[in-house]
Amino acid sequence: MVNILFITLSDNLLCKRLYLEKNKYDIIKLIMSLDKIFNKYITEDSFIKLSYEKLKDYGFNRDNTIAGVCLCRDEICQSILFHIRNLWGEVFNFSSFAGLYTSGKIGAEVFISHAPEIERNKKCVFYVFSHIGLGEKEEIGICKRKGLERSTACGALILFLNELSKKDKKTNEVDNHELTFVRQRLLRELSIESPSLLDVTQLALRVTCEDIEKTMENYVQSKGISYALISGIQVHYIDNNYIVPKEAFVLLDNKKIKFEII
Ligand SMILES: [Zn+2]
Repeated sequence: MVNILFITLSDNLLCKRLYLEKNKYDIIKLIMSLDKIFNKYITEDSFIKLSYEKLKDYGFNRDNTIAGVCLCRDEICQSILFHIRNLWGEVFNFSSFAGLYTSGKIGAEVFISHAPEIERNKKCVFYVFSHIGLGEKEEIGICKRKGLERSTACGALILFLNELSKKDKKTNEVDNHELTFVRQRLLRELSIESPSLLDVTQLALRVTCEDIEKTMENYVQSKGISYALISGIQVHYIDNNYIVPKEAFVLLDNKKIKFEII
């Protein structure tokens, strides 16, 4: 009996040691690959937790604020919704192909009208993300999916890039409204002749943040809204999602205050 117990304990310890060794290897590999491409990154649950803590310092919390999210409609992006919902409650969803902002003034108006009315100023927070896959051998755009060892992300941006390289600019397809919007919006801003996938991923995020900020200008002035915008690039890498933090700010009493999440 004692011997059996001894063997069982030894096996468990060995398993635990091997597990830690394996994890150490994964962590080193992860840091090397992500570091080569991005300066800063963090797991998506930590990113949302840290952003919540930051916004609490500016008076935003679960009770007085509504959260909205604008990210790609791709299913591998959706895990972040769980983390946002956990801290902020139910989330207003602006998502579309590539995570561009397609909801216009009406979308913003509806969102604001759903915000709690328990303080002088209504409060809302926008979480904005573009996304990209990163393969285990640092291949940009490659990711895994359930039942698919090799897939790509963001599909809408890759399609856009393929069309650009073939000079096949289908700028107005009536059957593909969202993709038409992606093409038109990005073509309007594109300043590089042969952009990389990372270039258009950064561009997609920048124009989305600008579009939301511009749309919100009216409401900050006329309705005294206080809002926050938290943005980043969602990176799909080895069965996990990471966030590369980008612009983050609050707009309080008509004053824009920028800050960093990490
Ligand atoms: Zn996508």
